This record gives sequence, structure tokens and C-alpha cells, in this order.
Amino acid sequence: MATVIQNMTPIAEPVSRFVAKTRSLLINGKWVSAASGKTFPTYNPATGEILAHVAEGDREDIDRAVAAARAAFDKGPWRHITASERGRLVWKLGDLLEQHAEEFAQLESLDQGKPVGLARVVDVPVSVDQLRYYAGWATKIEGNTIPISARGKFLAYTLREPIGVVGQIIPWNFPLIMATLKLAPALAAGCTVVLKPAEQTPLTALMLGELIQEVGFPEGVVNIVTGYGETAGAALAAHPKVDKIAFTGSTEVGKLIVHAAAGNLKKVSLELGGKSPNIVFDDAEIDSAIPGAANAIFFNQGQVCCAGSRLYVADKQFDRVVDGVSQLASKIRIGPGMETASQMGPLVSEEQLNRVCGYLESGFSEGAKAVVGGAREGDRGYFVQPTVLVDTNETMKVVREEIFGPVVTVMPFSDLDDLVAKANSTEYGLAAAVWTPDIKKAHRVASELRAGTVWLNCYGVLDSAMPFGGYKQSGWGREMGHQMLDLYTETKSVCALIS
Ligand code: NDP
Repeated sequence: MATVIQNMTPIAEPVSRFVAKTRSLLINGKWVSAASGKTFPTYNPATGEILAHVAEGDREDIDRAVAAARAAFDKGPWRHITASERGRLVWKLGDLLEQHAEEFAQLESLDQGKPVGLARVVDVPVSVDQLRYYAGWATKIEGNTIPISARGKFLAYTLREPIGVVGQIIPWNFPLIMATLKLAPALAAGCTVVLKPAEQTPLTALMLGELIQEVGFPEGVVNIVTGYGETAGAALAAHPKVDKIAFTGSTEVGKLIVHAAAGNLKKVSLELGGKSPNIVFDDAEIDSAIPGAANAIFFNQGQVCCAGSRLYVADKQFDRVVDGVSQLASKIRIGPGMETASQMGPLVSEEQLNRVCGYLESGFSEGAKAVVGGAREGDRGYFVQPTVLVDTNETMKVVREEIFGPVVTVMPFSDLDDLVAKANSTEYGLAAAVWTPDIKKAHRVASELRAGTVWLNCYGVLDSAMPFGGYKQSGWGREMGHQMLDLYTETKSVCALIS
């Protein structure tokens, strides 16, 4: 591990301008202050300094935003806009985002902490791709004709209609990607939206709001309310005029959302945490499996819901894999996201730093050993060393709970059935991976793993077209792919007596 501060990316002028001004809420097509007049700071996690001030939306602002989204859905021009036109607007948003790619990459890096190089090649292009993918779907959301067998002559068919006003609550690990992944299918399906970004990372969603206005969505179709989860988020989840909540975040808050949604039985989809097993068999191509395992946990500082945080390695390869992953970890250059040489930035917040360091302490107190890392890096900003823990087992907190930091626990195995039982012995079921050239074994294990995604000889490959979501307490529903449109549509059966 080496800390780098040599060559900071100069901040683009539009980004400096954006952060210099207190940012407002987007409600009914206008930028407005919070009803309370309150604001809150968002921090640069590389320094702990205030980066910008943002309006602190609360229940009253959520009420205003929901009323705007309700009016836009029930009686606004949005209802009558053709599917083709909806698709064109979503596509145009993708084009504008692409044109402003560098500004978004920098703003994401400053607000979230991730290396700007990563934001350039992952966050921004993935967001553009999601917008384009769902723009294409707007004209392809079709029902069926149904050959019903009731007596008489009937024409029966289904319509897929937009679900209505959608509340979308998103986390801080991929703020822009989360915003576009939520907005694109909802808008393509014809819904209207109230989006609440995470308090730690509100800025790219607000900058996207500027592009949304430039695109020309009718007023009230997209509303963005920044604020705290316990106030703005909770008000949105409980709101009686919201038809659906789409949430990504912790399993703990996911359960609160389900309770809050019960009042009007709004539909809920959840993309929650994970503790994904990454399995390396003794016949694996070790030269691919080692960097694959390192990337599976250290990418985005480990703040990834599908991170490969439990690494199971066949006895025979255990020492080699531990050594290889540890060597790669020790070479990772840690530094501010805007430093061009940084490969790993800070964690998102002081709270997350303390949470991850708390897990490390708990691991050590239960007998785990760090082969590499194991501590905070430096005393400025929220950096944590990439860490490889051994002497761990399934009873330990570091193996059971989602750490959401650059910390992997490595455990040996010898017996296949025992391995599968251990891999599945978690309340989560988001993802898993298997490394072996033996296709029978790979597919057999893939079929036995209780996870929404299983990667074979690769890790973390996600695509707008490939469904993603969780078994067990990792969530409800599937995002990405055409299945995501199911989350934003209702099916209506129409049955006509025709003779
Ligand atoms: P949360 O689940 O608290 O935050 C996710 C979103 O939910 C944020 O927008 C948050 O708002 C909002 N929120 C919080 N409380 C409520 C509530 N009562 N009602 C409605 N919305 C609410 O994640 P944290 O930031 O606290 O992170 C904690 C842990 O969650 C991490 O360590 C990690 O384990 C996990 N996590 C998992 C993610 C995933 O992708 N699966 C993503 C992020 C975190 P606000 O931030 O403004 O409080």
C-alpha cells in the first residue's frame, strides 16, 4: 500500500461553480429551497472538509414533490406523451450526460471519494448506457392477447400500464448509477418520480436534475428532494399518495421501508445488502482467480453490495491465493479520488470509516489475523487499508455481516457439500462466484448457490440487460434487464364479450 498525493486533477470550472452555490430541491420543474429554509453540508471524504451545501428537504417538501408528481401523472401532459417520445426524452438525457461526462466524473469523485478514473470508465458510461437501454424499452412494453376458455366469444388482452407515482430512495456507493438505474425504467414506463439521494452524496443527482430540465421533461415528472433518511426518506416511504417505492441500501432500512409502505400497501422493490461467497477451486486458473478475487473486494473501496467479501479457497491453493491477493492489496495506491495515480479512494464518510474499523476490531478480538492491512490509513480523510483476514470462520461477525469496506475474509475448504452449505449459510443471497475450468462442477455449484447472480470464472460483471437482485434478505424484485420494467408497470386484463 502506498499513499499518493502528487498530481491532482484540476477541478473543471463548471464543477467549481456547481459546488460554490447552495443547491436547491427540484420540485415541479423549479429549483426551490426547503420549506424550512434549512440546508446541510456534504463533505469531501478525502479531506473531511465541506464540499457544498444542499437544501434539507423534509416531510413538507416531500408533500410538495409528491403532489407535483401526482398531478403530472394524473392530469399532466406526461400521460398523453407517446411511448416513442418518452423514449426520446430518456435517450436525450443519456446524450446530455455523455456530453458532460467529465464534470459528472469529477463531481462524483469529490462527493463520494472514488478515483476519478474509475468514475470516468465505470460510473458515467454505465449511467449513460442504462438511460439508453431503457429508452429503447419505452416502445416495447407490451401486453398479450389471451385465448380464454370461458363460455361465449371473448377478446381478452393485457395492457402494461405505468404504476403511477414512484418514490426512489438511493444509497451513496454509486450515486449517479443508482439515480439513472432508478429513473430510466420508471420514466420509460411512463411513471412520475420523487427521487431522494443519500445525504452523503447528493450532488450528481442534483446536477442530473439540471440536465433533466434541459431535456424538457414536463414539470413534476421528475422531482429530486435531498435530505435525511429518517425524515425525508421516511416521509416518502410512508406517503399515502405514492404508488411504489424502489429502494437500494441496507437490509435494516429495507425492513423499515416495508413497514412504512404498509399504510397504503404501496408496491415495494428492494435491492439490499450482500455477503457474497467467492469460491476458488484447486483446479482454478490461479493467475485469473487471484486478481479476480482482489478486484471483487477492493473495487470502489469495497463499498459494493455484491462485493466478494467471503473468499473460500480449496485447501491446496489456500496459501497461494492468500499470498497473491495480499500482494496485490499491498500494491494498491491509496489517495484522494482526484489524485490521478489513486487506485483506491477514501470511504464515503466518517461514519462508514468508524463502522469498518469497528468490524476490524471485532474480527481481531474474535481471533482473525490480518495478512495485510487491518487499519485506517493516515489521519486525514476516511481511508482504510485494503485488508485480507485469515483465521476466520462462519461464527465471526466479520464473516456474517456486511462490512461494506475493503476487507475480505479468506477461508479454506476441502469438501464440496460442506463448502456449498457454508457459502449458503448467510441471511443474504445477492451474488456468488465460482472459479474452475471444470464446467460440470461450475454449473452444479452455480445451481446450488442461493444467490441472484452467479459468476463463473469472472466477478462483478453487470450489464443493463442482465437482471440483478437478491435471494433471501438481499431484496425483492430484479433490477436491470427487461424484468425491471415489471417493477414500474401494472398489468391490466381487458376482457370483451364480442358475440
Ligand atoms: P442506508 O440503508 O441507511 O441508506 C440508504 C438510503 O436510505 C439513503 O438514501 C438513506 O438516506 C435512506 N434512509 C435511511 N433511513 C431511512 C428511513 N428510515 N426511511 C427511508 N429512507 C431511509 O445505508 P447507510 O448509508 O446507513 O449504510 C449502512 C450500511 O448499509 C452500509 O455499511 C452497507 O452495509 C449497507 N449499504 C448497502 C448498500 C447496497 O447497495 N446494498 C448501499 C449502501 C449501504 P440518508 O443517507 O440520507 O440517511
